[in-house]
Amino acid sequence: MENKDFIQENKFLVLDRLKCLRGDYYHNKCSLCIEACPDNAIDLFRDKLTIDDSCTNCGVCVGLCPSESLHLENFDENSYSVEFEHKSENKLSCKGDSACLAVYDAHHLITMAYRHKDSLECDLSHCDSCSINKENNVKSNISYNIESSNKFLASISNKKIEIISEKSEVEASRRGLFSKVFKTTQTLKEDKNLTQKINENIINSKVPTKRQILQNTLKRIDDLETKSLNDEFNFIVNKTIDYSTCTNCKECLQFCPTEALLNNTDQSSILFASGKCINCNICNDICKENSITTSYVGIDLLDFAFTRAKSLIDFKLEICTECKCSFAYKDGDMICNRCKKFKTSTYEDMFKMASEM
Ligand code: SF4
Ligand code: SF4
Ligand code: SF4
Repeated sequence: MENKDFIQENKFLVLDRLKCLRGDYYHNKCSLCIEACPDNAIDLFRDKLTIDDSCTNCGVCVGLCPSESLHLENFDENSYSVEFEHKSENKLSCKGDSACLAVYDAHHLITMAYRHKDSLECDLSHCDSCSINKENNVKSNISYNIESSNKFLASISNKKIEIISEKSEVEASRRGLFSKVFKTTQTLKEDKNLTQKINENIINSKVPTKRQILQNTLKRIDDLETKSLNDEFNFIVNKTIDYSTCTNCKECLQFCPTEALLNNTDQSSILFASGKCINCNICNDICKENSITTSYVGIDLLDFAFTRAKSLIDFKLEICTECKCSFAYKDGDMICNRCKKFKTSTYEDMFKMASEM
C-alpha cells in the first residue's frame, strides 16, 4: 500500500483525503463509506479515514461518497456514464464491461437512462450469488439508487430504468471482468473529446464531476422550466436562513466545501446555489445560532441545472461606531456583535476571534 500525503491507494481503491468531508470540517461525522463497505476495508485511524488491503473492488463506497473522495483504481464511473449513450447496448452489467453497479449513484444512473436512446437495463441477476453482496448490502444500495433515479426520471421524462433479475447468459469470470474494465478505462482515457469534456468539468472545480454530468443532462431538456420534482431526493436540496437569528458571521460560507453558499458583491447577502450543494450538512452543523435549515421541496430545476444562485438572506450593512467595520445591522445601537460582547466581557476575550466568541 502506498501513502502519499493526502492520497492513499491500495490495489483497487484511491482515497483523496483532501476531498473527504471529514477533512473539510473536523466535527463532520460522515461515515457512509465505512458503514457500507462489506469487507470492513475502510476505517478511522486517529480520526483519519484509512483504507486497507481487504478491499475487493466492489465500489459501494465510491457510489455513496457525496464528495467523490474515493475512486476505483481501474474504472472511471464518470467517463463510463458519459460514454454510455454511444454504446449500442443498453444493459449495465457487472458481467459486461462495467464495474459492480454499486459504483454508480443517482447522478450517473439518471444520466445514462436519459441520454441513451433505449431504456436503461440494470442487471441485478448476479447479486444474490455474489460474494461481495454480504447481508444484501450491496444489492440494497443499487436498488435504492435505481428506485430514486426512476422517481427523478418520472419527473423530467418518460424514461425508466428496468431491472433484470433473471440470469440470461453465460457468466464471465471476475478475472475476465477486471481485464475488460481496465481496457475500457484505457479506451476512454484515450478518447480525446471525452477526456477534454471531463477535464473541463473537473479542473479548478470543487463541485463533484458527477453533479456536473447530471447538470449537463438536465440542460438537454428543452422545456426544463415546466418540469418540477414530484418527490424528495437527498442529493438535491434547498436551504433557508432565519433572519431573526442569523448574525452574518459567514462561518457557513467559509466551511462549505463546494462554495454552494456565497456572498454577493458587497457582502450584504448570503446566496445559495443548489446546483453546487452536496447536502453534506456542514453548514447546518457549524451554525452556532441554528439559523440554517435544509428542505427537500420547492426545487427549481433551472437553478439547479444552470448553477443559478438565489439570495437566502439580505442585510442592511452599517458601520460599527466602535470598531468602524461594517456589520449586519438589525436594530438598536450601531454596534457590531463582537464589540457588544467585548464591552460586556472580561479582558480574557481580547485576543479571541469573533468566530470563537
Ligand atoms: S463517504 Fe466520502 S466524505 Fe464520507 S467519510 Fe467516506 S470518503 Fe469521506
Ligand atoms: S453560520 Fe449561521 S449565523 Fe453565521 S452567517 Fe451562516 S446562517 Fe448566519
Ligand atoms: S450548502 Fe451546506 S450542505 Fe450544501 S454543500 Fe455547502 S455546507 Fe454542504
